[in-house]
Amino acid sequence: MIEVGEEGGTASVRAAVTDFVNVMGYCEHKLGLIARGVQVPQPEAVRRGGEAHVMEERRDARDVEERVARGELVPATEEAIADPGAPIEIERESVYTTYESPVSVGDRAARVRLVGRADKVCRVGGALRVVDNKFASDPSKYEGRDGPFLDQKLQVLAYLNSSFSPDPARAEELDIPHERKEWSVQIHDAATREPAVTFVGEQGPRDLALLRSRLARFAGIALGWVEPAHHDNPRKCRPCQYLGVCEFALRGGAPDKG
Ligand code: SF4
Repeated sequence: MIEVGEEGGTASVRAAVTDFVNVMGYCEHKLGLIARGVQVPQPEAVRRGGEAHVMEERRDARDVEERVARGELVPATEEAIADPGAPIEIERESVYTTYESPVSVGDRAARVRLVGRADKVCRVGGALRVVDNKFASDPSKYEGRDGPFLDQKLQVLAYLNSSFSPDPARAEELDIPHERKEWSVQIHDAATREPAVTFVGEQGPRDLALLRSRLARFAGIALGWVEPAHHDNPRKCRPCQYLGVCEFALRGGAPDKG
């Protein structure tokens, strides 16, 4: 979902976090296709990832229960959430996020609102931590990497800087006091659902600058103020769900290994 409009005389862009990261972390030409609501079948990897997420939700609920029983976590009651020293984990998939920010695109101004739902929100040693789980059909592509891919990083940063709510209508605010912010991207093997690689980092000024610059460019493209750039990489087009309908698709190049 990507919508543009005007609020109080200022241009506005509203989008799902997943669409924002798909565009700014993968291909800027996806924006027009998403905004026009072009329908394409769900890629098999996405469908399998969705199923794995549901299984992970169940496994995680059992794990949290056991750790609460062992005294490693306190139940995430209102009182515990309000205590900055209490280690807590909010029930998986139950935190709705809204990230709102003014942006400047050249000498023009706009407002962006990104809405989403975090996989997991916790507080660990005084740090607010957002965890995102990914299920990779080929976890070996993470070998030698010292951080997540750009779309994965933007996704956790967008959640981490959002306001939280326990309900999809976002009527109620969920305030989690904290001293600093951390993100975690956990890669699982899609076939076995076993953890393969985990990236964890503390949010610093460079992370915030990255998020803000991508947000401004995203708004600029959505509003037609900036032309989308092409990645010029046929290997990115090959697995793209829009390959069959995209006028900018690149074909050819060396086949993928395996
Ligand atoms: S087919 Fe290629 S150019 Fe078109 S949206 Fe997908 S990745 Fe981008």
